[in-house]
This record gives sequence, structure tokens and C-alpha cells, in this order.
Amino acid sequence: MGAKQKEGVSLAGFLTRAATRLYCGLFGHQYYTVQRFNKYSRKIACGRCGSSFAMDDFMQVVVPWSDDFEHLYYVVYGFKKRGNYEKDSNSKQ
Ligand SMILES: [Zn+2]
Repeated sequence: MGAKQKEGVSLAGFLTRAATRLYCGLFGHQYYTVQRFNKYSRKIACGRCGSSFAMDDFMQVVVPWSDDFEHLYYVVYGFKKRGNYEKDSNSKQ
């Protein structure tokens, strides 16, 4: 058999990611603030699984970050993209 094994695609890595997402799905994400846009809106991310979300305090919603938000905040509103900061905000344990 001439099966080629790709490097970097390990079963352990896959399982770890799957387990992480499952854990987040069951117990909730470990949010921290990536960037604040205004009084109510901010981009948050999960320190555990790495997913990004848009959060609106006024509407009290958290939705998965998408290209639409990317466009809205960085193109329409003209915010500059930022890296991770405020690494501790919501998750004090
Ligand atoms: Zn998560």
C-alpha cells in the first residue's frame, strides 16, 4: 500500500482540539476581551479553544465572530485591528 502520512496531522492533536471544543460546549468558553469598540461592543475570544466572538452588552448577546463583523468594525467604523490584550478580564478563577 502506498499510503502517505501527512506530517502535522496527528490524531492526538485532533482529539485535543475536539475535546477542548466539547469542554467549551459543555462548560462554556473562557472569554477574554480582545478589543473594545465602544461602550457596548467588543470582540472577545476564548482562551481555551481560540474561538472569537462579538459581544454586545446592550443587547446582551454573544455571537460567533464572522467576516461581517470584521468588515463592520475594521472597514466601516475604521477601527484598527489589535492583537490580544486584557488577557484576564472575564475569567478570574
Ligand atoms: Zn472555548
